[in-house]
Amino acid sequence: MYQKNQLLEVEITDITNDGEGVGKLDGYTFFIKDALIGDRVQFIVTKVKKTYGYGKVKTVISPSEYRIKAKCPDARRCGGCQIQELSYERQLKFKRDKVINNLIRLGGFEREFLESIEEPIMGMKDDCFRYRNKAQFPVGYDKEGNLIAGFYAGRTHNIMPIDDCMIGAYENKSILQAILEWMKRYGISAYDEVMHKGVVRHVLIRKGFALIDRLLSVAKIQSISYSINKEKTNVIMGNGYKTLYGSDTITDSIGNLEFKISPLSFYQVNPVQTRMLYEKALEYADLGGSETVWDLYCGIGTISLFLAKKAGHVYGVEIVPQAIEDAKENAKINKLNNTDFYVGKAEEVIDRLWEKNKDSKEGTEGYRMTHPDVIVVDPPRKGCDELCLSTILKMSPDRIVYVSCDSATLARDLRLLCDNGYVLKSFTPCDMFPHTVHCEVAVSMSRDRARQ
Ligand code: SAH
Repeated sequence: MYQKNQLLEVEITDITNDGEGVGKLDGYTFFIKDALIGDRVQFIVTKVKKTYGYGKVKTVISPSEYRIKAKCPDARRCGGCQIQELSYERQLKFKRDKVINNLIRLGGFEREFLESIEEPIMGMKDDCFRYRNKAQFPVGYDKEGNLIAGFYAGRTHNIMPIDDCMIGAYENKSILQAILEWMKRYGISAYDEVMHKGVVRHVLIRKGFALIDRLLSVAKIQSISYSINKEKTNVIMGNGYKTLYGSDTITDSIGNLEFKISPLSFYQVNPVQTRMLYEKALEYADLGGSETVWDLYCGIGTISLFLAKKAGHVYGVEIVPQAIEDAKENAKINKLNNTDFYVGKAEEVIDRLWEKNKDSKEGTEGYRMTHPDVIVVDPPRKGCDELCLSTILKMSPDRIVYVSCDSATLARDLRLLCDNGYVLKSFTPCDMFPHTVHCEVAVSMSRDRARQ
């Protein structure tokens, strides 16, 4: 039996979905942090179970052909980037394989079928650093009591000071420094999670990339606001916010659409890849100009407005009230008045509207909204609620476009839809988060006419 802290050597033969290297010793499997497929490593055993154990790399004895030097000196300690030492090409293959494996293992689809309908993963073309438009830095103290801001070390709530994150914006560093100096000068304390004491929990910085480009790289602060959160929780933001400086929202654009974004609204973090993803979703929606479309989990209406340019009418649903206010405003700014937005849980809103309008006469709005041509969903990681999926099935659109940030819950939901009259047409993984293990996927489905 192996023991904790033991030093061992192994050949890495696979990668887990979480980016750990897999090595086998006499039929016993080790999952090893920072080890890459193709490496031979010396590692420290960190945990021992009956048939498998965990470890972390001590030294790389012979490096994998995919191993590169991490750009960030803190890549191994930080919980943000799990695979920065893997070449970008190999990262893309890892993500594509992860999607396929989840669809097989959790969705029960056949490999051969999936490979016949998959489209190549959309990776970043240029620099795949500095891509994030949003960063959230926890603020706290180090062991000596110095005020620090940074990131949580992997799988902990210990803050490690980081003043320049390589996947974040250049401006973050000077903004953070200014805030820490201000806190020191005025004796404003950082929040202590354990004692539930102190004032500042996090600094959240969001940058409108497009606008900055237009200003020829002159960074300009558009808005400063604060959000009060008195709860004993590690949720970052409270329910509201107050603007201290500038406007209540910042502005960004994707393609030729402009978006206002308020602090509490979700907005995709990688603007370059977001555009690729939305264009793919639009292609899968296959619109001719007259269709009725639902965009569920619509956020500030980004996908909705992309669709509205090509559709008859688009209805959006989103749970965060401020995001729906943004969505309505964004529809106005972009002069797309063929849109309507609802606040609420997607599952509740569409179920309510279905019950109310399902028997409406053909040609009425009630009929159109309950018999849409296309439904687009873009849920958070936990996927769609069952009630949401069952109402979608009742509404029976010709096409469903599923945009997912977690291929495990995607696989579960696709299985349910495919068992109830839909077929997978095509799917495209999209790398929104280089150097992390996360992967976005756009999926095209249509109603199986043979089974109707
Ligand atoms: N399509 C948008 C947002 C996708 S993120 C975009 O591309 O920007 C998922 C969104 O779902 C978030 O805005 C989140 O607030 C919202 N959400 C989470 N649970 C929800 C639910 N049950 N019903 C409706 N919206 C929900």
